[in-house]
Formats: sequence, C-alpha cells, structure tokens
Amino acid sequence: MQIKTIAIIGLGTLGTQIAVQAAAYGYDVRGYDQDPEIFSKTITKVKGMMAAMGKGPTVPKDVWEKAAGEVKLAENMADAVRDADLVIEAVPELLDLKRKIFKELDTLAPKEALLATNSSSIPVSRMESATERPEKCLNLHFYQPAVGFILCDIMGGTKTTPEVIEAARQFIRSLDLIPLKVNKEILGFCFNSVWRAIKKQTLYMACNGFVDFQDIDRAWMVFTGMPYGPFALMDMVGLDVVYDIEMSYYNESKDPKDIPPQAFKEMLDRKELGAKTGKGFYTYPNPAWADKAFLKG
Ligand code: NAD
Repeated sequence: MQIKTIAIIGLGTLGTQIAVQAAAYGYDVRGYDQDPEIFSKTITKVKGMMAAMGKGPTVPKDVWEKAAGEVKLAENMADAVRDADLVIEAVPELLDLKRKIFKELDTLAPKEALLATNSSSIPVSRMESATERPEKCLNLHFYQPAVGFILCDIMGGTKTTPEVIEAARQFIRSLDLIPLKVNKEILGFCFNSVWRAIKKQTLYMACNGFVDFQDIDRAWMVFTGMPYGPFALMDMVGLDVVYDIEMSYYNESKDPKDIPPQAFKEMLDRKELGAKTGKGFYTYPNPAWADKAFLKG
C-alpha cells in the first residue's frame, strides 16, 4: 500500500498544518477548502502561533515555509482527490457534514484510496457507512504539528483492515510524528481522551467562578514544565472547535454534566474564539501567558 499523493479537505487550523507537514516530507499534496482564501490566512496565523509558543515544526522554519508554497490548491474537491492515495478530511466537527464529505470522497477518490478523518472526537465507525469502502476508512487525529504537537492518534472503524492501519502508521512515522494506535474504539482516541478530561474539569472550574483561569494555567505550567496551560491551548485550538468537540461528547452521553458551561458558550456568542479572533481567554497577539513575569502571579 504505497502512499505518495495526499489530499486534504478543509484547510483551516489543522488541514493547513497537515498539508504543510506532508509537503515538507516529500509528499505530493493537494488541498481543497470551500473558502479559497483560508489557506494563506491560516499560514499567517500559524506563523504567529509558532512565534508566540516558542515551539516550532519538525523541520527548520524555512523548509516549512517552502513546503507551504508546494501545497497545490484545488478549485474543487474532485481535482483535489483525483490521484490521491490518502484523503484526510479536516472540516468542522459536525457528524452530518463529515458523513456528507465521506460520501462525496467515496465517489471522487480512486477506489484504492484510504479515507481518513481528522475528527477530534467522532469515531470513523460513524462515517464509514457513508462509503462503499469501510475497510479503507480510519481516524487519523493530528495535534497541530507546526507548533510542536508531534502526536497522531490512529483508530480503525468496524471493518478497517490491519494493512490499512499499518500503512497509516508508517505514513505518520514518515512525517516524523509519533503514531498512537488505538486497539479498541474509544471516544477521543488515545491522548485526546486524556486532554478531554483536563478540558472538562478546567472549564468547569474557571467558567463557574471557582478559580481564575490564569492560576490554573500557572499551576499546569509549573506541574508539567510546559510553556503554556490548558486555557492558552484551548485559545490556540479555537474555542468554537473546543465547543463542538465537547458537544459531540455530550451528544454521545446525554449527560448534562458534559454540556460546556454557559459562560463558555457566551464567549462564543461574543465571537471570542481564541487566537484566531484576537480574543479568547487571553488577548492576542501578545497573550499574558507568553510574558516572562506570568508565572509570578
Ligand atoms: P477550522 O474551522 O479551522 O477549519 C475547518 C475548515 O473546513 C474551514 O476552513 C472551512 O472553510 C472548511 N470547510 C467547511 N466545510 C467544508 C466543505 N464542505 N468543503 C471544504 N471545506 C470545508 O477547524 P480546525 O480547527 O482545522 O478543525 C478541523 C477538524 O480537525 C475538526 O474535526 C476538529 O475537531 C479537528 N481537529 C482540530 C484541532 C485543533 O487544534 N483545532 C486538533 C485536532 C483535530
């Protein structure tokens, strides 16, 4: 199973980073987004995040920037996936949308192509039936490789073959990323399940007024040695993306405790979506957590 040509559908925060990562490691990459401006806008945004976080991609920055110029932008989905060996969708975290995309990809991509979803929470078993090739469908969940998160969860659906999982594992390794293979389906895969527990507890504490979010971030930074805490990270992910992910956990459990706090929803209503809109928990481009004095409290 040779993977040489990659197509990325959705070129927002993650799709762009996956596309550039693959181009930087020699893959032929085509991308499509319904918004033709988004790729260049996201490249600018990611460069800003690289500067703020003090962590960069797995290749030197000039190689990363050159690779960004090598991603071919397609005008429609058919052109993007025509020769693909592997298609990765990175559209918003909405099951109906992802199923619609999988259905279209199934008709447009070569019969042998693998179809992967970058979903943060939805198992591919919920999407595979939209295609005629469930044995070639899988979750490939990347974590912002351009800013140092070099992990990728890999999880199959109900019919994914071991060969497909192995090909995916080799592909992830070839990108200098660490594959985290899930052996039995679980919401949130490997590390995202852990991160989900952290998000749920910290949002509960801060958004219900128990503790200031900055103190939680300080504690996390000292405890883990990381240069930022959970709220800085949620700002970088995008608070709308975090909300959609949390709601997909709620839609699964129907446990009211899984609904994100009302004060968090109100931030979205005010368009405070994190680094991408200039305001989330912190304000950008110079968030308080990046200041040397931040840890002093
Ligand atoms: P985003 O909002 O930044 O980007 C989504 C892109 O999809 C947008 O550019 C939008 O124009 C495009 N899009 C929407 N509908 C489309 C369609 N029909 N055809 C083509 N393009 C379409 O979102 P994101 O943060 O990149 O997240 C994308 C996926 O990756 C989600 O499933 C999310 O859960 C997952 N993810 C996000 C992160 C993160 O840190 N943001 C990390 C891992 C996984």
